[in-house]
Amino acid sequence: MTTTDAAYDDRLAEFVGRELVRRTVAKDAVSTAAIRTWAEAMEDTNPVLVDDAAARATGRDGVVAPATMLQAWTMRGYAATQALARGEATPGAEGFAELVALLDEGGYTSVVATDSDFEFAREVVPGDLISVEEVVEAISPEKRTGLGVGRFVTTLRTYRDAADEVVGTQRWRTLRFRPKPGSTADGAEPAPVETPEPPALRPRPAINLDNAFWFEAATEKRLVVQRCTTCSTLRHPPGPACPACGSFDWDTVPAGEKGTVHSYVVAHHPRHPAFDYPLLIALVDLPGPGGSPGTRLTTNLVDVRPEDVEIGMPVVLDWLEADDELTLPVFRPDPEGQR
Ligand SMILES: [Zn+2]
Repeated sequence: MTTTDAAYDDRLAEFVGRELVRRTVAKDAVSTAAIRTWAEAMEDTNPVLVDDAAARATGRDGVVAPATMLQAWTMRGYAATQALARGEATPGAEGFAELVALLDEGGYTSVVATDSDFEFAREVVPGDLISVEEVVEAISPEKRTGLGVGRFVTTLRTYRDAADEVVGTQRWRTLRFRPKPGSTADGAEPAPVETPEPPALRPRPAINLDNAFWFEAATEKRLVVQRCTTCSTLRHPPGPACPACGSFDWDTVPAGEKGTVHSYVVAHHPRHPAFDYPLLIALVDLPGPGGSPGTRLTTNLVDVRPEDVEIGMPVVLDWLEADDELTLPVFRPDPEGQR
């Protein structure tokens, strides 16, 4: 069969609105011990979770459970999860087992959770006995994703207290997909998906007609500076016209290998996987020929600790061969640059 088969689509569509997990009552009532354990594990220091007096001072009747713990009260537990993974139906979860079997039949043997949206009706407190039921809300047509082709399955879990009042709902979405060849993902629930990542490449420079010469020279490990051929003013970054005289005529001169740190920052966040952190980003002053006004280059400093960088520090040119396509100038402390 193929999974674009209309009959198969109909069988999946029949699940929409169906009960996936019958109403199941938590094994244990909400307890201060479980709340405390959770709060410590999550490093949640909110006193209303663990300190009765602090909770009363906020107008509550005592400590409350963390909202995000709602799902935890009704978890089926390790043994039942293992049984499900082995394909054994767990009482109350027959609908779930049937749906997984149907998805397996379509080749959608891997799973990754994509969304979990909670709505909370009231705070859960010690003594509450929580139950949950789960209904299928939607199953998408086949979609092409980065992990492989698959279908998004959206379910609605409704959490109630012992008086049948809704305390919260959870819209839960998973992607059930066909693993790409070579993937190690299997059909276990909820299997983590392993996607080997190629090493991250440095972001590509935005190359245009005005700056291409500079990056081409860098590929050959030549650091060049643009020079106006009308008035001899140097300029960087590259541009089409001379800022001093407006001329469009230019050539380039070698920049020399020595400079000084004009200013710098230490970047910590946000992190890009192609860079090592802490990342030193510097403005390096490059002198002009024969003592004429020079230019200033935005670059990275290498082989130096952030705490050892100083404004005015002499630095010397080096080259970073980032990958097959990208070679960039960087600067390191100048061993001859005694000040
Ligand atoms: Zn000029």
